[in-house]
Amino acid sequence: MDIEVNYKNKKRYKTGRTPWHQGKFWTGLIWVLSKMMLIGKEYKVEWVDSEPIKPPYMMLSNHMHFVDFELAAMATFPHAVSNVVNIDGYINKFFLLEWIGAISTRKFTNDVPLVKSIRKVLQRGDILAMYPEARYTPCGITSFLPDSLGKLIRMNKVPVVAVVHHGNHLYAPVWNVRNKRKVPLHTTFRVILTPEQIANMSVDEINQVLRDALQYDDYRYQKENGIRIKEEYRAEGLEKVLYQCPHCKTEFSMEAKGAQLHCTHCDKRWVWEETGRIRALEGETEFDHIPDWFAWERQQVKKQIEEGTYRFEDAVQVYSLPRVYRYIPLGKAVLTHDPEKGFVLKGHYRGKDYYIHRQPQQTNSLHVEYDFTPIDGKDYVDISTENDSFYCRITDKNRITKLAFATEEIYLRSMNKQKVKAEKELAGNVSV
Ligand SMILES: [Zn+2]
Repeated sequence: MDIEVNYKNKKRYKTGRTPWHQGKFWTGLIWVLSKMMLIGKEYKVEWVDSEPIKPPYMMLSNHMHFVDFELAAMATFPHAVSNVVNIDGYINKFFLLEWIGAISTRKFTNDVPLVKSIRKVLQRGDILAMYPEARYTPCGITSFLPDSLGKLIRMNKVPVVAVVHHGNHLYAPVWNVRNKRKVPLHTTFRVILTPEQIANMSVDEINQVLRDALQYDDYRYQKENGIRIKEEYRAEGLEKVLYQCPHCKTEFSMEAKGAQLHCTHCDKRWVWEETGRIRALEGETEFDHIPDWFAWERQQVKKQIEEGTYRFEDAVQVYSLPRVYRYIPLGKAVLTHDPEKGFVLKGHYRGKDYYIHRQPQQTNSLHVEYDFTPIDGKDYVDISTENDSFYCRITDKNRITKLAFATEEIYLRSMNKQKVKAEKELAGNVSV
């Protein structure tokens, strides 16, 4: 059982409260502002395979950078949109987000009020916009998509529109958003499920359609379209996601400067060419496609979990967000992560201990923040409960991508275990 933090003010911001309908003024203003923000960028937003459809519909989009919202507004105008937004987006502007009809949530928690709010938005004939990966893609490819989406779609029986942005990650990768690159952006809107199709499909089938429709790979987009990224600083920050050396296998030894990656342990160097290809300066090029390197790292983490060698422990600095006015510094705490218990955060605040536990099944993915400027520009992970969020500053550099991999792999493993157990029990019953 969790022991909550001993706050002086016990009030919490209520997430998932009934969203307001976005008034015409706001829809128009968002369109104008988005259009202005897009000035100077090369972009194309289009409906493919059909004419634009009228709401209500669910819009499920991949997530790469804030520019996603601006591009989406080009295609949803003049209709009202309710976006599902994480609680940290609400700081100091919660009134504005409420005005524009946003729905707040805490990432990767089981959020029942959220389901109700979504239903209300669709019943009144608006567009419901969700970014189901729930964080910016770390490596320009599809991240974790929760199985609960299929249920949500079946429940609401409205058309589902897949929105896939291409190029937004290359333009502003999450691990170096400050230094933008010149990249043409291309966004497609496509109806992937009609209410009639949904009525005749199982939840698993719906999830499969969704997974297929939301597949993307920004580095492949770069190659296929012959896009050259000429900015000299293009590799800087890449060490946060390519944290393991494929040559000597050392973790967190990677550094990046200019267009080059370097392992400080074995001294191997790679250059990230303008075309998007990685090339070793000497010897074998282990991976020339960035997502392949990334996928290999995930396999290494999975192996450690299976072999029983994975465990994480750190003395972290914690900032919490029970409400939406400011981050509350809670001081130092101990964060552990292992395959059996999941996440445990133990700390002490205003004379009392607190204890936050998230089981493997409760956290299907992890909210990570590279260079988190709202606090101090360092790397953070956010462990959320249904009514609080704990932003933990991780001591080791370039560590958080591995934590995200481990969270997802441990979740999948625990779900598989549950499934095997249920099947065994079922088999047992049958044989009796
Ligand atoms: Zn190395």
